[in-house]
Amino acid sequence: MTRFICRPRISIYCLRRILIVFCLGLAVLLSACSAATSSPAATSSPVLLSSTAAPASLPNEAGALPGEAEPQLPSTVVDYQGERITIDSIERIVSLNGDITEIIFALGMGEYVVGVDSSSTYPPERTKALPDIGYQRRLSAEGILALNPTLVIGDEAAGPPEVLTQIRAAGVPVALTADPPTLDSPTQKIQFVAQALGVPQRGERLAAQVNAEIARARDLAQRITSPPHVLFLYLRGTDVQQVAGSNTPIDAMIVAAGGLNAGAEAGIVEFKPLSPEVVIAAQPDVILVLEKGLESVGGIDGLLTIPGLGDTPAGKQRRIIALDDLYLLGMGPRTGQALADLAIAFYETPARGSQP
Ligand code: ZN
Repeated sequence: MTRFICRPRISIYCLRRILIVFCLGLAVLLSACSAATSSPAATSSPVLLSSTAAPASLPNEAGALPGEAEPQLPSTVVDYQGERITIDSIERIVSLNGDITEIIFALGMGEYVVGVDSSSTYPPERTKALPDIGYQRRLSAEGILALNPTLVIGDEAAGPPEVLTQIRAAGVPVALTADPPTLDSPTQKIQFVAQALGVPQRGERLAAQVNAEIARARDLAQRITSPPHVLFLYLRGTDVQQVAGSNTPIDAMIVAAGGLNAGAEAGIVEFKPLSPEVVIAAQPDVILVLEKGLESVGGIDGLLTIPGLGDTPAGKQRRIIALDDLYLLGMGPRTGQALADLAIAFYETPARGSQP
């Protein structure tokens, strides 16, 4: 697993790569991490990157600067359906989506949150301590209203719509932002949340920080000369096995990180069920999955029993990247960091047809 050619030009790669490899080694030693230990360690060099192994990233944060004004309320936002929402109090916030929760905390406003949905996993120690209102797409009004919120905030993924109508009917403002499957999403959501919470300047600062990281990751991606074909699989055991095509957040991430979305190349739009035909058409150099998804199929060995996958370049070389779902798909404040991780992994992946 040692192919570091450290020329000054690529020193950033080398540094990050060394950190990742170092931490991966550590993770193998410390936790009997099934994915990591089941890979043939020294023989080949599979690109295996997982959030637990990646270096702890510094969370983006934009708390109050000395002398900066307290939250300015009432505030007004225009939601994703063009509706104007006025917010009088942020004393008790319920957040409906993991990316929105992460943004609230990154804005330094986490102390006002009284409840979160089950996809809210970051920052871990803070979100774990909060009441869980259930899954973002299957919310219930009773659970949310029982927390006496003064603001319910989320993005367009939150639902079902009847539940949101019920909450509004109870007199609680429900502010939902757009969440497009593009790299404009972090900025849009950060600005929306910051505006709703009456701290627009903090929002501008956080968005600038996140965009600078995205730009740096794109610079890294530009150095990839032969882009690998990357197949993203959404897995929940054997019941749910889907491929990501075009018009998905992960498509935007793969392309920005310097890869080719093998699902989109195989003609898939949005998410479609995985089939042997798709695998054959896609011929990925690397398979990208969520950590929970990989776990749900029994690690890398289980993954490679999916018909056809073992015969692809990625399968033969056991080149699997597994990352945390909110980190990779959330389009939140850590988007630039996730992109950089992907770009480094893709840089190390020989594209099909090229010399390994
Ligand atoms: Zn979202």
